[in-house]
Amino acid sequence: MLTSRFAPSPTGRLHLGHAYSAVLGHAAARSAGGRFLLRIEDLDQTRSRPEFVDGIQEDMRWLGLDWDGPAIVQSQRAAAYLDALDRLRADGLAYPCFCTRADIVQVAAAPHGDPGLHYPGTCRGLPDDPERRASTPHSWRLDSARALERCPLPGWAEQDGSIHRAKATDVGDAILARKDAPAAYHLACVVDDAASGVTLVVRGADLRPSTPIQRLLQLLLELPEPTYLHHKLVVHDDGRRLAKRDQAPTLAAMREAGVDGRELADGLTTGLLPSGFRLADA
Ligand code: GLU
Repeated sequence: MLTSRFAPSPTGRLHLGHAYSAVLGHAAARSAGGRFLLRIEDLDQTRSRPEFVDGIQEDMRWLGLDWDGPAIVQSQRAAAYLDALDRLRADGLAYPCFCTRADIVQVAAAPHGDPGLHYPGTCRGLPDDPERRASTPHSWRLDSARALERCPLPGWAEQDGSIHRAKATDVGDAILARKDAPAAYHLACVVDDAASGVTLVVRGADLRPSTPIQRLLQLLLELPEPTYLHHKLVVHDDGRRLAKRDQAPTLAAMREAGVDGRELADGLTTGLLPSGFRLADA
């Protein structure tokens, strides 16, 4: 059964860009008689807030978007992520990384889970040192070179039928688990999509660079391959991206201003945006 999901991070109120993604995912599922899931990506505990989890659900209801079952909450799924990490470790495909953020400056600039492209490989190939691991905070990284010896470079299919093939330069030693969290974005995403039977991943084209590494993880963990719909992004008329930190107009503010959520959602399904906004490629 076609199953799609909306997977926001509760680090702020939803804006029009989130609404567009949620509406497309919901329409794809419902028009096929399929399931639509809500997943709360709250692994970044320093930025996630319970009031934003409530806000997401409130905004979804206002848009008239119902979802199947209770929301999946990533902070409650540590055991599933640890199992996946254990499997990659047992296969010799993950290594502990003791580098600090400051050691790898670029990572901080990566907007979503960093696919590991900037990591210089400092900790790759270090002899295993359980004592150091026990005493020093560390993350776990994918050994992408080894992974690519085991698996061919992955490809993926978009819902429009186009087929894409990853290049070796698209995948690096991505972080699988953080110092302070049982999983990082890519690993949690593929484990959850598989566990909840997601067959269609609907998300903004800004997340397309995550797809090669996620497809590689799916191959390594023998998880099913979903289809992808990387949609255009909602931008201001002048081309500025919507971002939480830019004071993007939130759905909550639109509701307070008297906008009808269901009408807004109906318009978004057909690509009709409120004035002042347009769709753009990533
Ligand atoms: N949590 C991600 C975000 O808020 C979306 C992840 C995904 O759809 O794969 O941008």
